[in-house]
Amino acid sequence: MTNSTFSICVYCGSRSGEGPAFTAIARGVGEWIGAQGGQLVYGGGRTGLMGTVAEATRLAGGRVVGIIPEALVNRELANTLCDELHVVDNMHQRKALMGERADAFLALPGGIGTLEELFEVWTWRQLGYHDKPIGILNANGYFDALLAFLGQSVRDGFMGEWQMGLVQTGPDAIALLERLREEAVRHPKGDKLAEIL
Ligand code: AMP
Repeated sequence: MTNSTFSICVYCGSRSGEGPAFTAIARGVGEWIGAQGGQLVYGGGRTGLMGTVAEATRLAGGRVVGIIPEALVNRELANTLCDELHVVDNMHQRKALMGERADAFLALPGGIGTLEELFEVWTWRQLGYHDKPIGILNANGYFDALLAFLGQSVRDGFMGEWQMGLVQTGPDAIALLERLREEAVRHPKGDKLAEIL
């Protein structure tokens, strides 16, 4: 890890999804980060699951780093309660800075913004831009269809098993967070994101 504090970048919905279950999962993730004395790196908004995970981290005593493009400050309600709030020029800067500041990445349920961020950080890893752990939290079976499709992609020869091996998946938030932290501690890795992106 880059320092003794586990810093995890969480990608998740700017909406909360249907029903209370997704919000409860995001809250649990934030509470775990806070209880570990960890740091959340995220998109810096107050809406949806993004707002929930940040608020739960803060209330549990964790550090919150928000990174938001200028153009989204009003739309995603920039979170002024962050310990650090970075207002950057554009989406590319946001994602590069989120990548640099994290020891690991976790995707929670979300929409196309979440999926885009997950796939980007995954492709960065396959290209060797970084070698930090990545997790997909398959809470409530939300990612079942996506994971099935990715299996199809391996079977059809468009992906190798090794690429699937670059992500960890599981239904239980705490178990997955612990696996990501363990991988980050075991193999402390820097990254080349600042040079490459
Ligand atoms: P969503 O999952 O669609 O609710 O979006 C979650 C977060 O992903 C929001 O903060 C979006 O601003 C962000 N996001 C990341 N990359 C993109 C992109 N290329 N286009 C739109 N939103 C994005």
